[in-house]
Amino acid sequence: MTEDEILRTSILNCERSDLYLDRFPLSPEQSSDFIDKKTKRLEGFPLQYIIGETEFFGLRFKVDERAFIPRPETEILVEKTIERVKGQGLSDKVMVLDIGTGSGAIAIALAKSLPRAQITASDISGGALDLARENAKINEVDNKIDFVRSDLFDNISFKEYDLIVSNPPYIVSGDMDSLPRDVKHEPAIALDGGNDGLDFYRGIINRGKEFLKKGGFILFEIGFGQSKKIKHIFAATGWFDIVDAVKDYNDIERVIVARLIKETR
Ligand code: SAM
Ligand code: GLN
Repeated sequence: MTEDEILRTSILNCERSDLYLDRFPLSPEQSSDFIDKKTKRLEGFPLQYIIGETEFFGLRFKVDERAFIPRPETEILVEKTIERVKGQGLSDKVMVLDIGTGSGAIAIALAKSLPRAQITASDISGGALDLARENAKINEVDNKIDFVRSDLFDNISFKEYDLIVSNPPYIVSGDMDSLPRDVKHEPAIALDGGNDGLDFYRGIINRGKEFLKKGGFILFEIGFGQSKKIKHIFAATGWFDIVDAVKDYNDIERVIVARLIKETR
């Protein structure tokens, strides 16, 4: 669909093919709604925020300025997490921690595909967590996910997770001003990964071992050009083996999977 068609189907709550039937003209109010939305769009406001929803992993998510808009490449992280559980003989009753859950995209997609998993979804942003809770309800998995407001691990008490997954902020602080216009409308706290973009990887890797079972996994989404450095951070701990690095559709390493090889307590 073109963006205009997406706006119009959203306003009329109809299918694309309906737009071309005479019985679906825009009323005067709908026309002015369309013009307002089109103007916002031309000013660089993300289409997903304007229509208030997006699709991720075949599921519908409400989205607004409280949280980052889930990206298609993050579906790779979800797929690899599901493969880990199903392929490693891990009981499907796994304990999973999603750090920086935002709209809830990863946690909710996992809850749908791994119905016996017990999932903790955390975020430092209260607004994002409220939205994530709404999305868990919309997708009927609110009884399967615990939402916790936490700066990384600060309010996480359980210490025997099988899997820690995260798509953390990974933009270099110095690049924040030159982000595409659309992306600048998303919360800076969802994007800014510190001076070299790697602050959250260091934080999660260095403390993560205290919260994982031996043999447990950390699965990260990573940004362009970060793979080598993040593998180094894992290796420097002496606690983790890299077990997978997965490229995205643009041939960029996008997901890294590491396994905790030592007893930590
Ligand atoms: N997981 C979602 C997704 O993939 O669509 C959102 C990812 S977004 C790139 C990163 C998220 O990390 C944001 O929701 C942000 O609020 C959260 N975050 C930022 N700093 C954090 C911190 N110190 N502790 C926990 N979460 C944090
Ligand atoms: N892929 C996002 C972007 O470039 C950044 C996501 C992140 O920081 N985790 O818009």
